[in-house]
This record gives sequence, structure tokens and C-alpha cells, in this order.
Amino acid sequence: MIKYVPQMTSVVIEEIPDRVTLAVDISNCQGNCVGCHSPFLKEDVGEELTNEIIDKLVADNYGVNCFLFLGEGNDPEALIALADHVREIGLSPALYSGRRDVEKALYMTFDYVKVGPYIEHFGPLNSPTTNQRLYKVTHDTSAKPDYRLTDITSRFWHRGIDPNAK
Ligand code: SF4
Repeated sequence: MIKYVPQMTSVVIEEIPDRVTLAVDISNCQGNCVGCHSPFLKEDVGEELTNEIIDKLVADNYGVNCFLFLGEGNDPEALIALADHVREIGLSPALYSGRRDVEKALYMTFDYVKVGPYIEHFGPLNSPTTNQRLYKVTHDTSAKPDYRLTDITSRFWHRGIDPNAK
């Protein structure tokens, strides 16, 4: 089961370049970032995120073309199933992970993946010294490997705002 915090759901235009994104905060984070911006997201809080709730959130926010999971939670299979549903209804699934890297199955599932824990002295995504990376994933089932990662982190570096709040 994947749980999200309904009160924190919002439409954002900075987190994923060139996309109008509906972002949901996922709880049960398994990360351990020093200086975590939202320690409560490591707890079992919020409500279950289901396909039906995703449909309603998308219907209530007409015009979004990307759905961003801010965090992975603690149930990879459920996360992938929800992301597959996002793709089935015509949106790009995106993931902000706090881990240094994610499994191939996640790259195969999402169109955008951010990796890297927040490390204060390196800064967030909009800092040119950041350790975090945002990848655009190109899927090609006729090729091996069947996806290609393009590092688009530098898209954030001309901006004077924090796209990631850590
Ligand atoms: S990934 Fe986010 S919520 Fe999880 S520990 Fe790191 S900063 Fe906190």
C-alpha cells in the first residue's frame, strides 16, 4: 500500500521541466537524509493512494500532464502499479526518490526520476553543486537496455528558486 498526505497535494510547474505536474507527498519514506525537510513523511501517515483517487485528483486538476510521486513509500510493487495507472490515463509518471539510485524496474516505469538524498552542503536541485540528479527516461522496448537516461538537472540551474524544497 502507498499512502499520501492529501493536504499537501498541489499543482506545480517547477519540479518537472516543461510539464504541468500534480504532485503528491508519499509517506512511509525509508530514507534517512540528514536535515530531512519533512520528518513526518517517514511515519505511517496519510491515506491510501489508489487508482480511483488518482483519477479524481486528475479530474479535479484539469490540464495536468504529469503526476509526481514525491517519495517512494515502502511498497515498490504498489508504487509501480500506481505509476502504470498514471500512464494508462495519459499522464507522465514521475518519481522523486531520496536514494542514490533506483532499480531498473523503476526507470522502466517512470518518465522522470530524481535520485540523490538531500545533502545540505551540496544544495538542492537548483544548485550547480548538487549531488541530486533529475533524469528524463526515454523508453524503447526494441533496444537494449530498453530505456535511456538523460540528465536534465542543469535545467534548474538558471532559476533562482528551489524546485525541490530539499
Ligand atoms: S527522502 Fe525526503 S522525506 Fe525521506 S528522509 Fe530524505 S528528505 Fe526526508
